[in-house]
Amino acid sequence: MERTTERERFASRLKDAMAERGMKQADVIQMAADAGGKLGKSQMSQYVAGKTIPRRDVADLLARVLGVDAAWLLGAEGTDARDAGAPSRASARHEAASHPVSTEDGAREHAASTIRSTPMREFKKSSKLDNVLYDVRGPVNDEAEAMEARGEHILKLNIGNPAPFGFRTPDEVIFDMRQQLTECEGYSNSKGLFAARKAIMQYAQLKHIPNVDVDSIYTGNGVSELIQLCMNALLDTGDEILIPSPDYPLWTACATLAGGAPVHYICDEEAEWNPDLADIESKITSRTKAIVVINPNNPTGAVYSLDILQGIVELARKHQLMIFSDEIYDRLCMDGVKHISIASLAPDLPCVTFSGLSKSHMIAGYRIGWMILSGNKRCMRDFIMGVNMLSNMRLCSNVPAQSVVQTALGGYQSVERYVEPGGRVYEQRNYVYEALNAIDGVTAVKPKAAFYIFPKLDVKKFNITDDEQFALDLLHEKHILVTRGGGFNWEKPDHFRVVYLPRMGVLREAMEDLADFLSTYRQN
Ligand code: PLP
Repeated sequence: MERTTERERFASRLKDAMAERGMKQADVIQMAADAGGKLGKSQMSQYVAGKTIPRRDVADLLARVLGVDAAWLLGAEGTDARDAGAPSRASARHEAASHPVSTEDGAREHAASTIRSTPMREFKKSSKLDNVLYDVRGPVNDEAEAMEARGEHILKLNIGNPAPFGFRTPDEVIFDMRQQLTECEGYSNSKGLFAARKAIMQYAQLKHIPNVDVDSIYTGNGVSELIQLCMNALLDTGDEILIPSPDYPLWTACATLAGGAPVHYICDEEAEWNPDLADIESKITSRTKAIVVINPNNPTGAVYSLDILQGIVELARKHQLMIFSDEIYDRLCMDGVKHISIASLAPDLPCVTFSGLSKSHMIAGYRIGWMILSGNKRCMRDFIMGVNMLSNMRLCSNVPAQSVVQTALGGYQSVERYVEPGGRVYEQRNYVYEALNAIDGVTAVKPKAAFYIFPKLDVKKFNITDDEQFALDLLHEKHILVTRGGGFNWEKPDHFRVVYLPRMGVLREAMEDLADFLSTYRQN
């Protein structure tokens, strides 16, 4: 019994010392050999597994290699891990200088046996990330990946990635990219290829966005890059920016990272998730610089009416705010709903409209998005200088992906088939909406666009106080991955987001599993 405890203690100290130095078993074996000792592979793995304790001479060798005290390593109580004889950084440098090496290999060996045995300081992430949240790929996702690594199958309803669910890129887009690949080897203009920007400009004209020329258009590695770029270009420390709640969390994350202060305005579930204009106005202060509109909305699937958009424009006009409008789902509207670009209603205000091909053309992986500066450009001259500087600094966006923008935006739009009756997105939306509302304790507003639904849970019935725990419990029990409502900067623990991209059969099974899970669920 006593021996077992000793072995365990030795193994645990050995593993700690190795982890602290970032060493694997093979590194220890190699360094022992470099130091003139002998250590076999199976011997080492037995030590790590706690199956045996080394002889004193081997323990001394291990201690030397790891730069720890041998007695401590062997499990003695009251000892310190630090080896008085372990070389400090300074002495390691001194030793290196006094034993000059003649070859590169010698230098590497020498470095390995001196510097690597010195405990390494820890590198912590920047405190700028302290309040940054991106739970679409957060801790629950990490747990799902760990489960997958163990061989378990997970149904991922957490991310709006069309390709894995059989939504294929239109053939013409692939064909055209192939044709142009050899012409896309160099950097492009930092804003993007002329032909791509011209096509985006024409698209802006069709959406009645005023005062747009080719120069007002920037391509990006997805809308994601441009959101980050704009937040960095605009926000000084403490500047406030109005962002919807729930939101697509990248907006809040990038505003925070840029040093800004995101202030969330409520989108009202009772009013089909429309922005609450009174709430917006109540949150405007002298530090508010801009308002973000996500229309069509992720995660709710709402599309805003002319009245609502005009209301937002009036507030922006009254309080002199810039408007950032994320319209990446504008071609995925259903039920005959017509999408209106807010910039078309605000020719006198500084506006930036974002869109891209990730969702409408099912090429999220190619990474191509854009932004269009419109309206009052005079008042955003300085901001534009900042945008240009940041755009130049990243050289340009992915050029092969830019080369298909013209093809994608012109001519027949295959995405329209998906969102009309009989189309996959349309039928899956109808099914998931009905199925969720049929579950006792779940209600959901019918989405009008995109491929997300944001259902509400009866927190009293399920005793839910922690939405991350809910998502984890569902993952563990049913192997279904969803994103918790809090991941979209929604304050209460009563929502989650479902991506309804999977084919009907899979979706049906997922909804049945969810219903089964909730039929007995009560959070502890
Ligand atoms: N904006 C919204 C509202 C989104 O939902 C997403 C992705 O899900 C993005 C932007 C990012 O898109 P991209 O692939 O263009 O970076």
